[in-house]
Amino acid sequence: MSKKILIIHTGGTISMSEDETGTVKPTGQNPITQHTKELTDLGELLIEEPFQLPSPHITMKEMLVLKKMIENYSAQEIDGVVITHGTDTLEETAYFLDLTTDTTFPIIVTGAMRSSNEIGSDGLYNVISAIRVASSEEAKNKGVLVVLNDEIHTASNVTKTHTSNVSTFQSPQYGPIGIVTKRGIIFHHSPLELEYYRTNHIEKRVALLKAHAGMDSSLFYAIKELHYDGIVIEALGQGNLPPDAIEGIKAILAENIPIVLVSRCFNGIAEDTYSYEGGGSHLKELGVIFSNGLNGQKARIKLLIALATTNDINRIEQMFQ
Ligand code: ASP
Repeated sequence: MSKKILIIHTGGTISMSEDETGTVKPTGQNPITQHTKELTDLGELLIEEPFQLPSPHITMKEMLVLKKMIENYSAQEIDGVVITHGTDTLEETAYFLDLTTDTTFPIIVTGAMRSSNEIGSDGLYNVISAIRVASSEEAKNKGVLVVLNDEIHTASNVTKTHTSNVSTFQSPQYGPIGIVTKRGIIFHHSPLELEYYRTNHIEKRVALLKAHAGMDSSLFYAIKELHYDGIVIEALGQGNLPPDAIEGIKAILAENIPIVLVSRCFNGIAEDTYSYEGGGSHLKELGVIFSNGLNGQKARIKLLIALATTNDINRIEQMFQ
């Protein structure tokens, strides 16, 4: 029986074209929607286009629009959702939806590295792959999935790793959980657990900082003055900071503002291994929260969701374990 798939176009390179000067930009009608035959052969498609934005323009507001749009459909009305999205912040939207939607049908996010009229354009191909995955029974109960370049990744692990290569989306340390072949959709792994947080608004502000050799406390003092509600730090190695940053960390924690630590290494997990000044063990004693393998941009999304549901630092810490 033909599947009903909701396609939500949001913008990005996948909906753009290159002009004679080699510049890529949006052009009137979304080029993907012109490939009617290739797409309608795959099932019954419902199309929504709530906005058309390059993904650096996407904010929490648009992510909430997508969540609410998806929640307006029931499993009786659709069998799956495909979202087309710019690749720059695709992982953030995918992870936000992963944590905040609780649907029984699959939600697949896709995009393209080459615009619609460039040689080797990957947009239409990726949309077709995403619809095929959204239509498969096996894609259910795996959380939000990201499908590009014949690979199926979890929203929690996937990240954009290359500025221009079509195989940019990778899941460092874990790899994809499935592949798309000419004949089928093949899953070889399944997430052990899925998280869900009931959230309908995001109003708090979370800063994201990257640690570096010689980092001092000045940015922490500035963030305190700017009244941010939380901070994510991409720390060094296993989860360490330079000693000059410690006074700033203490000043933030004294205000009951949560600090979540991830590693700036893109493989591995931040842990409280070192007990020297600024080492992970010292930071943990001070009250810094360690995150379980998320990258900085996704830990920021999760902290925003956490702050929308609780002010309790212990509860927030549990959410990151
Ligand atoms: N800068 C573009 C965007 O994220 C890149 C892309 O879509 O691939 O909207």
